[in-house]
Amino acid sequence: MSDKNQVVLRHVTKRFTTRTMGTVTAVDDFNLEIKEGECFSFLGPSGCGKTTTLRMIAGFEDLSEGEIELCGRPVSIKAKNLYVPPEERDLGMVFQAFAVWPHMNIFDNVAFPLKIRKTPKKEIESRVKEALRHCSLDGLEKLYPSELSGGQQQRIALARAIVTNPKVMLLDEPLSNLDPKLRETMRFEIKELQRQFGFTIIFVTHDQSEAMAISDRMMVCDMGKIMQIDTPENLYRKPNSRFVHNFLGESTFINVVLKDGKVFPKGDETQAIDLQIPENAESEMVIATRPNAIRLTKDSGFITHIEKRIFLTDKTEYLVSVGQQLVKIQTPHRVVFAPGEQCGIEIVSPGWYPPEDKEAEAERARRQRF
Ligand code: ADP
Ligand code: MG
Repeated sequence: MSDKNQVVLRHVTKRFTTRTMGTVTAVDDFNLEIKEGECFSFLGPSGCGKTTTLRMIAGFEDLSEGEIELCGRPVSIKAKNLYVPPEERDLGMVFQAFAVWPHMNIFDNVAFPLKIRKTPKKEIESRVKEALRHCSLDGLEKLYPSELSGGQQQRIALARAIVTNPKVMLLDEPLSNLDPKLRETMRFEIKELQRQFGFTIIFVTHDQSEAMAISDRMMVCDMGKIMQIDTPENLYRKPNSRFVHNFLGESTFINVVLKDGKVFPKGDETQAIDLQIPENAESEMVIATRPNAIRLTKDSGFITHIEKRIFLTDKTEYLVSVGQQLVKIQTPHRVVFAPGEQCGIEIVSPGWYPPEDKEAEAERARRQRF
C-alpha cells in the first residue's frame, strides 16, 4: 500500500426523490480518502448507501453535491458540471448478480471490455488468456456461462474486471450469491489477484466477518451517513457508537439507570452493578460489551443466577438474568454452571451509549424496504 490517495470523495451527497418516498438522502456528505493498493470496505445494513456510493465512483450515477477524484484526476465535480464517463475511469467492476452475458462464450465475455476499447486482436487473445489463467478458468474459453458453476461464473466476472488491468477494482457484494466455503476461497483469490496486480479495492458488503477478513480499513455506514472509518481491529475494539458496536462482532447490551452515583439494571434497582460511571453519562444509558468479555464467577460481582445453558461447538453460552434482562455470556466449556445455580458477573470496561433510538430504528427499516 502506498501513501498516495487513489480514491477521494469530498462532500459527496446523493438525494433521490420518488413519488412514494419523497426525498431520501441516500448518501449524506461522504468524505473519504482511499490509498493506492488499499483494500477498503463499505460495510452497513441494506439501504445504508453502499451501492449508491459505488455507482457514483463508477460514474453510473450523478452526484447531488460534492466531488470525486480517481488516481489524482477529478472525475466528478458537481459544481463545475464535470463528469467523466465510466469507460474512461480506469475501473474494474464486479457486481452481486452474476453479470455475465449468457449468449457469449467465456472468451467473449472476458474480451468484451477490450473489444470496446478497440484493442488489437492479438493483444486481446493474450490478455484474455492471461486473465483466465489468473482466475483458474484456463481451457474453458469455448464454454458458455450456463455450463459453469456459480463460483466459476463469478470468476468470469472477475476475469473480465482484471483484463483491462485497472487501477481500482469496485466489488459490490461479489460473493453474496455463493455458498460459505466458496466465499472464503474467492475472498482469498481476490486478495491474491490484488497482490499480483496491485490494484486498489473497494469492497461492498453487509457481512461484517467478510469485511473484517478482507479489509485494511473499512467504513461503517448507517442510513446514508458514515459512522466510523478505521481498521477492522480498531472498529471492533473502539466502536464510537452503539450502532458500530452492534454491527461488528457479537454484542451484549444492558439497559441501565444511574441513581445516586450508582448503576442499576433498568427496571430493578435492588442491586447495583459495580462500574465506573463516565463523565458525560445521562440518567439512562446502555452499557455494551461482548459475550466473551463478561467474567462469570461463583460469588463476586453482580450476584444473580443462570437462566439457561447452551452448548455451542467451541464454547458454552449462558443466559443470565440481570434485573429484568437476559444477558448473554460465552465461556470455555470448562466453566460449568447448572441452570438455576447462583453466579456472579463482572463486566470489564464496557462501552457506554445513549439509550436505543426508536426513530432511528424505524428509519433504518424504512430504507431497507426499497
Ligand atoms: P445499499 O447498497 O447500502 O443497500 P443503496 O445505495 O442501494 O443501499 O440505497 C440507499 C438508499 O437509496 C435506499 O434507501 C434506497 O431505497 C435509495 N435508492 C437507491 N437507489 C435509488 C433510486 N434509483 N431511486 C430512488 N431511491 C433509491
Ligand atoms: Mg447494495
